[in-house]
Amino acid sequence: METQPLLDGKVALVTGASRGIGAAVGRAFAAAGAAVALAARDEAGLRDVAASIEEAGGRALVVPTDVSSPSSVEALVDRTVSSFGRLDAACNNAAGGGHGPMPLLDVTLDAWDSSMAINLRGTFVCLQHEIRAMLESGGGAIVNMSSTAGIDAVAGLAAYVSSKHGLEGLTKVAALDYAAHGVRVNALAPGPILTDNLARAGEQAQQAAAQAMPMRRIGTVEEVAAAVVWLCSEQASFVTGTTLAIDGGKLAGSPPFQRPQ
Ligand code: NAP
Repeated sequence: METQPLLDGKVALVTGASRGIGAAVGRAFAAAGAAVALAARDEAGLRDVAASIEEAGGRALVVPTDVSSPSSVEALVDRTVSSFGRLDAACNNAAGGGHGPMPLLDVTLDAWDSSMAINLRGTFVCLQHEIRAMLESGGGAIVNMSSTAGIDAVAGLAAYVSSKHGLEGLTKVAALDYAAHGVRVNALAPGPILTDNLARAGEQAQQAAAQAMPMRRIGTVEEVAAAVVWLCSEQASFVTGTTLAIDGGKLAGSPPFQRPQ
Protein backbone atom coordinates (compact mmCIF):
# COMPACT_ATOMS: atom_id res chain seq x y z
CA MET A 1 0.00 0.00 0.00
CA GLU A 2 1.40 3.45 -1.01
CA THR A 3 1.47 5.94 1.85
CA GLN A 4 1.24 9.68 1.21
CA PRO A 5 4.44 11.62 2.13
CA LEU A 6 3.81 13.48 5.40
CA LEU A 7 4.11 16.99 3.92
CA ASP A 8 2.90 16.35 0.38
CA GLY A 9 2.20 19.65 -1.42
CA LYS A 10 3.16 21.78 1.60
CA VAL A 11 5.54 24.74 1.76
CA ALA A 12 8.21 24.83 4.49
CA LEU A 13 11.13 26.98 5.55
CA VAL A 14 14.11 26.26 7.79
CA THR A 15 16.64 28.67 9.25
CA GLY A 16 20.24 27.65 9.90
CA ALA A 17 19.96 25.43 6.82
CA SER A 18 23.53 25.85 5.52
CA ARG A 19 24.88 22.89 7.55
CA GLY A 20 24.24 20.52 10.44
CA ILE A 21 20.75 19.89 11.77
CA GLY A 22 19.15 22.64 9.64
CA ALA A 23 20.51 21.16 6.40
CA ALA A 24 19.10 17.76 7.43
CA VAL A 25 15.74 19.36 8.23
CA GLY A 26 15.72 20.98 4.77
CA ARG A 27 16.41 17.61 3.13
CA ALA A 28 13.79 15.87 5.30
CA PHE A 29 11.12 18.51 4.57
CA ALA A 30 11.76 18.01 0.84
CA ALA A 31 11.79 14.21 1.11
CA ALA A 32 8.43 14.46 2.88
CA GLY A 33 7.00 16.29 -0.15
CA ALA A 34 7.35 19.97 0.81
CA ALA A 35 8.81 22.76 -1.30
CA VAL A 36 11.43 24.20 1.05
CA ALA A 37 13.06 27.60 1.55
CA LEU A 38 16.59 27.31 2.97
CA ALA A 39 17.83 30.24 5.09
CA ALA A 40 21.22 31.09 6.64
CA ARG A 41 24.06 33.55 5.96
CA ASP A 42 26.40 31.22 4.03
CA GLU A 43 24.94 31.24 0.51
CA ALA A 44 27.40 28.65 -0.84
CA GLY A 45 26.41 26.22 1.94
CA LEU A 46 22.73 26.78 1.17
CA ARG A 47 23.36 26.15 -2.55
CA ASP A 48 25.00 22.79 -1.76
CA VAL A 49 22.00 21.74 0.33
CA ALA A 50 19.59 22.93 -2.39
CA ALA A 51 21.52 20.96 -5.01
CA SER A 52 21.26 17.76 -2.96
CA ILE A 53 17.51 18.33 -2.57
CA GLU A 54 17.02 18.96 -6.28
CA GLU A 55 19.13 15.91 -7.22
CA ALA A 56 16.73 13.84 -5.14
CA GLY A 57 13.77 15.33 -7.05
CA GLY A 58 12.72 17.97 -4.48
CA ARG A 59 12.10 21.72 -4.73
CA ALA A 60 14.35 24.17 -2.86
CA LEU A 61 14.75 27.95 -2.71
CA VAL A 62 17.94 29.55 -1.40
CA VAL A 63 17.35 32.72 0.64
CA PRO A 64 20.48 34.19 2.26
CA THR A 65 19.24 35.40 5.63
CA ASP A 66 20.58 36.82 8.89
CA VAL A 67 17.99 36.09 11.58
CA SER A 68 19.43 38.83 13.81
CA SER A 69 18.16 41.34 11.22
CA PRO A 70 14.36 41.79 11.29
CA SER A 71 14.24 43.09 7.69
CA SER A 72 16.19 40.01 6.53
CA VAL A 73 13.67 37.70 8.23
CA GLU A 74 10.76 39.63 6.73
CA ALA A 75 12.35 39.23 3.28
CA LEU A 76 12.79 35.47 3.89
CA VAL A 77 9.10 34.91 4.60
CA ASP A 78 8.03 37.26 1.76
CA ARG A 79 10.23 35.43 -0.77
CA THR A 80 9.01 32.04 0.42
CA VAL A 81 5.38 33.06 0.02
CA SER A 82 5.91 34.85 -3.31
CA SER A 83 7.85 31.86 -4.74
CA PHE A 84 5.74 28.99 -3.41
CA GLY A 85 2.38 30.67 -2.74
CA ARG A 86 1.96 30.00 0.99
CA LEU A 87 3.69 28.88 4.19
CA ASP A 88 2.63 25.72 6.04
CA ALA A 89 5.65 24.67 8.11
CA ALA A 90 8.72 26.33 9.61
CA CYS A 91 11.70 25.24 11.66
CA ASN A 92 13.50 28.00 13.56
CA ASN A 93 16.82 26.28 13.96
CA ALA A 94 19.53 28.96 13.53
CA ALA A 95 21.80 29.48 16.53
CA GLY A 96 25.06 31.28 17.01
CA GLY A 97 26.95 33.98 18.84
CA GLY A 98 27.58 33.47 22.54
CA HIS A 99 30.74 32.22 24.24
CA GLY A 100 32.68 29.07 25.02
CA PRO A 101 32.47 27.48 28.48
CA MET A 102 33.43 30.06 31.15
CA PRO A 103 32.18 31.23 34.55
CA LEU A 104 29.40 33.80 34.47
CA LEU A 105 31.66 36.59 35.74
CA ASP A 106 33.82 36.29 32.60
CA VAL A 107 30.94 36.54 30.11
CA THR A 108 31.00 39.83 28.20
CA LEU A 109 27.85 41.77 27.35
CA ASP A 110 28.75 41.47 23.67
CA ALA A 111 28.83 37.68 23.90
CA TRP A 112 25.53 37.65 25.81
CA ASP A 113 23.85 40.02 23.32
CA SER A 114 25.09 38.11 20.25
CA SER A 115 23.55 34.89 21.54
CA MET A 116 20.24 36.53 22.39
CA ALA A 117 20.08 38.38 19.04
CA ILE A 118 20.26 35.12 17.06
CA ASN A 119 18.81 32.40 19.29
CA LEU A 120 16.01 34.25 21.07
CA ARG A 121 15.22 37.59 19.37
CA GLY A 122 15.86 35.96 15.96
CA THR A 123 13.32 33.24 16.74
CA PHE A 124 10.83 35.80 18.05
CA VAL A 125 11.04 37.80 14.80
CA CYS A 126 10.80 34.58 12.73
CA LEU A 127 7.67 33.58 14.67
CA GLN A 128 6.03 36.95 14.01
CA HIS A 129 6.48 36.77 10.25
CA GLU A 130 5.82 33.03 9.95
CA ILE A 131 2.62 33.13 12.01
CA ARG A 132 1.34 36.13 10.03
CA ALA A 133 1.91 34.22 6.76
CA MET A 134 0.37 31.01 8.15
CA LEU A 135 -2.75 32.83 9.32
CA GLU A 136 -3.18 34.09 5.74
CA SER A 137 -2.95 30.57 4.30
CA GLY A 138 -5.24 28.86 6.82
CA GLY A 139 -2.82 27.68 9.55
CA GLY A 140 0.44 25.81 9.92
CA ALA A 141 3.00 24.32 12.27
CA ILE A 142 6.30 25.61 13.64
CA VAL A 143 9.17 23.87 15.42
CA ASN A 144 11.68 25.91 17.42
CA MET A 145 15.06 24.23 17.91
CA SER A 146 15.73 24.30 21.64
CA SER A 147 18.17 21.96 23.39
CA THR A 148 18.37 19.82 26.50
CA ALA A 149 20.18 22.97 27.72
CA GLY A 150 16.81 24.74 27.38
CA ILE A 151 15.49 22.52 30.18
CA ASP A 152 18.53 21.56 32.29
CA ALA A 153 21.31 24.12 32.69
CA VAL A 154 24.94 23.44 31.73
CA ALA A 155 27.60 25.13 33.85
CA GLY A 156 29.67 27.74 32.02
CA LEU A 157 27.19 28.38 29.20
CA ALA A 158 25.21 31.34 30.59
CA ALA A 159 24.20 32.89 27.27
CA TYR A 160 23.34 29.68 25.39
CA VAL A 161 21.44 28.15 28.33
CA SER A 162 19.50 31.38 28.94
CA SER A 163 18.62 31.81 25.28
CA LYS A 164 17.33 28.23 25.05
CA HIS A 165 15.38 28.51 28.33
CA GLY A 166 13.84 31.69 26.87
CA LEU A 167 12.96 29.78 23.71
CA GLU A 168 11.01 27.26 25.80
CA GLY A 169 8.82 30.06 27.20
CA LEU A 170 8.46 31.75 23.82
CA THR A 171 7.31 28.45 22.28
CA LYS A 172 4.57 28.08 24.90
CA VAL A 173 3.32 31.67 24.54
CA ALA A 174 3.22 31.44 20.73
CA ALA A 175 1.36 28.12 20.98
CA LEU A 176 -1.21 29.54 23.40
CA ASP A 177 -1.73 32.76 21.43
CA TYR A 178 -2.50 30.91 18.15
CA ALA A 179 -3.84 27.51 19.26
CA ALA A 180 -7.39 28.53 18.34
CA HIS A 181 -6.24 29.93 14.98
CA GLY A 182 -4.81 26.76 13.45
CA VAL A 183 -1.12 27.44 14.12
CA ARG A 184 0.76 24.88 16.24
CA VAL A 185 4.10 25.76 17.82
CA ASN A 186 6.38 23.18 19.47
CA ALA A 187 10.04 22.82 20.39
CA LEU A 188 12.61 20.06 20.08
CA ALA A 189 15.29 19.53 22.69
CA PRO A 190 18.16 17.59 21.14
CA GLY A 191 20.92 16.12 23.26
CA PRO A 192 24.41 15.91 21.72
CA ILE A 193 24.11 15.49 17.95
CA LEU A 194 27.04 14.93 15.59
CA THR A 195 27.44 18.24 13.72
CA ASP A 196 30.48 20.50 13.06
CA ASN A 197 30.88 21.59 16.71
CA LEU A 198 31.13 18.07 18.08
CA ALA A 199 33.12 16.90 15.03
CA ARG A 200 35.66 19.69 15.70
CA ALA A 201 35.85 18.71 19.38
CA GLY A 202 37.37 15.38 18.27
CA GLU A 203 36.93 11.66 18.83
CA GLN A 204 37.67 11.77 22.57
CA ALA A 205 35.05 14.46 23.26
CA GLN A 206 32.51 12.54 21.18
CA GLN A 207 33.17 9.37 23.16
CA ALA A 208 32.87 11.25 26.46
CA ALA A 209 29.56 12.76 25.31
CA ALA A 210 28.33 9.31 24.25
CA GLN A 211 29.28 7.73 27.57
CA ALA A 212 27.30 10.39 29.46
CA MET A 213 24.15 9.34 27.60
CA PRO A 214 21.79 6.57 28.77
CA MET A 215 21.89 5.14 25.22
CA ARG A 216 25.71 5.36 25.22
CA ARG A 217 25.77 7.19 21.89
CA ILE A 218 25.27 10.65 20.42
CA GLY A 219 22.40 11.37 18.05
CA THR A 220 22.27 11.99 14.31
CA VAL A 221 20.95 14.96 12.38
CA GLU A 222 18.47 12.64 10.63
CA GLU A 223 16.94 11.63 13.98
CA VAL A 224 16.27 15.29 14.79
CA ALA A 225 14.98 16.09 11.30
CA ALA A 226 12.50 13.19 11.38
CA ALA A 227 10.95 14.63 14.54
CA VAL A 228 10.65 18.08 12.93
CA VAL A 229 8.77 16.59 9.98
CA TRP A 230 6.45 14.63 12.26
CA LEU A 231 5.67 17.67 14.44
CA CYS A 232 4.87 19.71 11.29
CA SER A 233 2.61 16.97 9.85
CA GLU A 234 -1.07 16.22 10.37
CA GLN A 235 -0.02 13.20 12.45
CA ALA A 236 0.80 15.71 15.23
CA SER A 237 -2.43 17.68 14.75
CA PHE A 238 -3.30 17.79 18.52
CA VAL A 239 0.26 18.60 19.65
CA THR A 240 1.10 22.19 20.52
CA GLY A 241 3.03 24.08 23.17
CA THR A 242 5.23 21.16 24.08
CA THR A 243 8.89 20.18 23.87
CA LEU A 244 9.97 16.81 22.56
CA ALA A 245 13.38 15.66 23.78
CA ILE A 246 15.52 13.84 21.19
CA ASP A 247 18.22 12.96 23.65
CA GLY A 248 18.70 9.21 24.03
CA GLY A 249 17.08 9.40 27.48
CA LYS A 250 19.30 12.16 28.93
CA LEU A 251 16.50 14.25 30.44
CA ALA A 252 14.79 11.19 31.95
CA GLY A 253 17.15 11.25 34.93
CA SER A 254 20.61 10.58 36.25
CA PRO A 255 22.56 7.32 36.36
CA PRO A 256 22.76 5.57 39.76
CA PHE A 257 25.78 6.27 41.99
CA GLN A 258 26.90 2.77 41.10
CA ARG A 259 25.83 1.16 37.84
CA PRO A 260 23.93 -2.14 38.34
CA GLN A 261 26.29 -5.10 37.63
P1 NAP B 1 25.67 24.56 13.62
O1 NAP B 1 26.33 23.45 12.88
O2 NAP B 1 26.48 25.52 14.41
O3 NAP B 1 24.79 25.39 12.57
C1 NAP B 1 24.13 26.55 12.95
C2 NAP B 1 23.32 27.03 11.78
O4 NAP B 1 22.75 28.32 12.16
C3 NAP B 1 24.16 27.25 10.54
O5 NAP B 1 23.43 26.89 9.40
C4 NAP B 1 24.39 28.76 10.56
O6 NAP B 1 24.54 29.19 9.22
C5 NAP B 1 23.08 29.26 11.16
N1 NAP B 1 23.19 30.60 11.71
C6 NAP B 1 24.03 31.05 12.68
N2 NAP B 1 23.83 32.36 12.88
C7 NAP B 1 22.86 32.75 12.01
C8 NAP B 1 22.23 33.98 11.71
N3 NAP B 1 22.56 35.12 12.35
N4 NAP B 1 21.26 34.02 10.75
C9 NAP B 1 20.92 32.89 10.08
N5 NAP B 1 21.48 31.70 10.31
C10 NAP B 1 22.44 31.63 11.26
O7 NAP B 1 24.55 24.04 14.60
P2 NAP B 1 23.84 22.59 14.75
O8 NAP B 1 24.70 21.75 15.61
O9 NAP B 1 23.39 22.11 13.43
O10 NAP B 1 22.59 23.03 15.64
C11 NAP B 1 21.40 23.49 15.06
C12 NAP B 1 20.41 23.83 16.16
O11 NAP B 1 20.26 22.73 17.05
C13 NAP B 1 20.82 25.02 17.03
O12 NAP B 1 19.67 25.74 17.39
C14 NAP B 1 21.43 24.35 18.25
O13 NAP B 1 21.36 25.16 19.40
C15 NAP B 1 20.52 23.14 18.37
N6 NAP B 1 21.14 22.03 19.11
C16 NAP B 1 22.23 21.39 18.60
C17 NAP B 1 22.80 20.35 19.33
C18 NAP B 1 24.00 19.59 18.82
O14 NAP B 1 24.56 18.79 19.58
N7 NAP B 1 24.41 19.77 17.58
C19 NAP B 1 22.26 19.97 20.57
C20 NAP B 1 21.15 20.66 21.05
C21 NAP B 1 20.60 21.69 20.31
P3 NAP B 1 25.40 30.47 8.74
O15 NAP B 1 26.66 30.50 9.54
O16 NAP B 1 25.57 30.15 7.29
O17 NAP B 1 24.52 31.66 8.95
